[in-house]
Amino acid sequence: MFSKNARQLSSYIPKSRLEGKIAVVTASTDGIGLAIAKRLAQEGAKVVISSRKQANVDKALSKLAADGLRNSIVGTVCHVNKAEDRKRIFDEAKKLGGLDILVSNAGTNPEVGPLLECSENAWDKTFETNLKAAFMLAKEALPLLRERGGGRIMFISSIAAFAPVSLLGVYSVTKTALLGLTKVAAQDLAPENITVNCVAPGIINTKFSSMLTQEGPIQEEAMRNIPMNRFGEVDEVAGVVTFLASDDSKYITGETIVVSGGMQSHL
Ligand code: NAP
Repeated sequence: MFSKNARQLSSYIPKSRLEGKIAVVTASTDGIGLAIAKRLAQEGAKVVISSRKQANVDKALSKLAADGLRNSIVGTVCHVNKAEDRKRIFDEAKKLGGLDILVSNAGTNPEVGPLLECSENAWDKTFETNLKAAFMLAKEALPLLRERGGGRIMFISSIAAFAPVSLLGVYSVTKTALLGLTKVAAQDLAPENITVNCVAPGIINTKFSSMLTQEGPIQEEAMRNIPMNRFGEVDEVAGVVTFLASDDSKYITGETIVVSGGMQSHL
């Protein structure tokens, strides 16, 4: 049961916690977003996947079809910074019948270096994608969630929100701000049966984290901070997001769950 192999977790997936639910997941053609979309669909939801490139959307749709999820997933292009693209994902959700679950997952880190050497351009770009787009998506999702009498909003932050990673300065600042967005929005929306929660992954094996996970001195230094002595897998984040999307978490709002193998976050 308590296997050391994280990849075996998929054998414990409940099949119908999200039956009848409709979800939008941004940045979901690779990495954590793709794993979230897959897991939501495996648990019964219909899911709109998206990312900036049509070719990546097509590739992800084929992968998910090969996993037996062809009838549960639709896909479209959405660069989260573009209003017309965000409208398109919600239009896709409407075609499926509405919206119950929003997972705002896109994140960027265009410049690596100390915070106070960050260029204005990189500062703006990081805030635009990591924070403003998350806010806009939540705001634009609201009318649809209200039509369904409630729903779930989830933001993907990072362990860097709590324990700033040297050289990821502005990225850390935006990820900390997402915790604030979660708290404030959760207070406002709780009376409407809309929960707002956040997931903060540690270092998870994806393209995004390859700078830290490739063999070498940086990897060794990163590993020293992980009590479980391994990087996380995308499925381990997807499982937590799916719990927050399900009725099992219906009395939780305004919280951030850290998925980090024991990396320090808060008391
Ligand atoms: P990833 O493996 O690099 O996947 C990135 C996905 O996002 C791709 O589908 C990409 O497709 C899409 N994308 C990138 N920019 C986008 C944009 N502006 N609009 C829409 N789609 C976009 O990244 P990941 O590691 O899964 O990261 C996902 C989230 O987890 C991010 O918010 C990241 O900050 C957070 N996170 C990751 C880690 C980690 O260790 N991996 C740790 C903590 C937090 P296209 O190229 O087609 O757009």
